[in-house]
Amino acid sequence: MKAIIVRSYGGPEALALEDVARPRPAKGEVLIKVRAVTVNRTRDLNVCAGQAGGPDALPLVPGQDPAGEIVDVGEGVGSSRIGQRVIVSSRLTCGECNACKAGRGSDCPKSRHIGIHRWGGYAEFVAVPEGQAVPIAASLSFPEAAVAMRHFPMAYQQLRGKLDIQPGEWLLVMGASGGLGSACVQVAKLMGAKVIAGAGGDERVAVAMALGADHGINYRSEDLTKRVREITGGRGVDAICENISDPTTFPAAFASLATMGRLVTAGAHGGGTVPVNMKQLYQSRQRILGSAGHDPIDIVKAMEGAGSGRLKAKVDLVMPLDKLLEAFQLIHDRKVAGKIVIDPHL
Ligand SMILES: [Zn+2]
Repeated sequence: MKAIIVRSYGGPEALALEDVARPRPAKGEVLIKVRAVTVNRTRDLNVCAGQAGGPDALPLVPGQDPAGEIVDVGEGVGSSRIGQRVIVSSRLTCGECNACKAGRGSDCPKSRHIGIHRWGGYAEFVAVPEGQAVPIAASLSFPEAAVAMRHFPMAYQQLRGKLDIQPGEWLLVMGASGGLGSACVQVAKLMGAKVIAGAGGDERVAVAMALGADHGINYRSEDLTKRVREITGGRGVDAICENISDPTTFPAAFASLATMGRLVTAGAHGGGTVPVNMKQLYQSRQRILGSAGHDPIDIVKAMEGAGSGRLKAKVDLVMPLDKLLEAFQLIHDRKVAGKIVIDPHL
């Protein structure tokens, strides 16, 4: 089969398109004919540079969120699964720690990833443990399912698992037009929250408003804290999805948090080290929560929402496997608004 394979870690040139043997599903596994896999430039380049997996993962086929059709099953898996349209949850949890036993695989300290620690989706076929292959609605295309998998389970984890957002609560989403931000806006609206979208440009604010946000603030040109206070009648927001961690924007967001408010964060792409007003934190009895990964229930909710059309996953472009480096360039040059998906059978 055709696959992008990394034989030794390095720059993008380490991602070579080769003909390799098609994997066979081992005991408890299914074999999927991959019809869509998301392109995640930063993550892919980190994986290919060896910053995620380690030497024992080589040779490695990277690629996250493969979607496709089950074409074969290993020992112990019912043949009724053959023909199913599925999306793969790339996060493998240990299944044995206290978090896993309590259904909170998001907090598993021993989690590993398909596409980082074992072969992923940049290939015509991928074999995965049966439980990782989640059936998808007929209404959902493979590219839509792959993109939905990228951010919606994480958004549910933040809003449901960490913030426990309640109907009618005020939520501020920072970076609201980005991948995770736009997912948080949509999921929060489905959960009945009142959403203020914070974004770093008027066009980005407009994107978040079109996804259902109730109010929008351009935090580059407006006083974020003041505007949030105005919108919420002076009390501030009950919760914040702050997935930027930029030292210049974090303080204004944090200052707009109400008494007993909570803030959830992941990613840290904006730098990761920010000033925190500890006086405000303790006096207002607030909480800052770290979030990584998602629980099985988050995947179920995400795929239900996407399948019913209430959560919209934006696919910008579908490209063949040999165009991966071209896809990286398009993302680098900011020539795509949504997500690029690879279909290895194009
Ligand atoms: Zn575990």
